[in-house]
Amino acid sequence: MSERTAYSGTLADIRHRIAEAAARSGREADEVTLLAVSKTFPASAIRALSEAGQRVFAESYAQEATAKQAELADLDLEWHFIGPLQSNKARPVAERFSWVHSVDRAKIARTLNRHREGQPPLNVCLQVNVSGEESKSGCRPEEIPELVGVTLQECPNLRLRGLMAIPAPGAQAEASRPAFRQLARLADELRGGFPEAAWDTLSMGMSRDFEVAVKEGATHVRVGSALFGARSYT
Ligand SMILES: *Cc1c(COP(=O)(O)O)cnc(C)c1O
Repeated sequence: MSERTAYSGTLADIRHRIAEAAARSGREADEVTLLAVSKTFPASAIRALSEAGQRVFAESYAQEATAKQAELADLDLEWHFIGPLQSNKARPVAERFSWVHSVDRAKIARTLNRHREGQPPLNVCLQVNVSGEESKSGCRPEEIPELVGVTLQECPNLRLRGLMAIPAPGAQAEASRPAFRQLARLADELRGGFPEAAWDTLSMGMSRDFEVAVKEGATHVRVGSALFGARSYT
């Protein structure tokens, strides 16, 4: 079986599960965008999945991503950045992605804004640490209003779309539900306080828990291993 044929079955299965989860909560399947998380997988795997019908891909490491983007320049793909960001690596991300889901501090927002000058606005989500555990990335919920203020007032080249979270991994998908609910509730509060932002995006749910996320209102699910197979590193 060719790589492409193998991917069409897996892709159809994930899309079907998203549609079923959406239907169970009275939502339409097309309210949920599937991001294929291709980090650590080669450009050839992305090409094969794109031939199977997937157009939206997400990457976590700037250098790895831009190398693959260069190899795939002949394809019409939409790229989302979902990894931790450092200011000194933010430039290629600002220039070559359509979305960044992992903005978690003012300095990153300002740096992305500066490097996006002259291009259509960069869609951004603010990453929130909803589990409250020791986590490398994501700002604390109480830091969000200030970050929203900076993004809206000082960053005309960014378009604030919503929130993103990576709950602490639990034994079961169900373990993520409280964190997803918390993220959705936070977005509702922000919608009232900052009506000038879109607040149309909840980026939550991964291979192990995307169906729970869809039921809790996810608009973007980030699925890697369930599509591409196990990664040798994360
Ligand atoms: C790697 C990664 C994913 C995908 O994880 P899977 O469990 O392989 O689906 C999703 N979101 C982020 C932020 C990631 O880093």
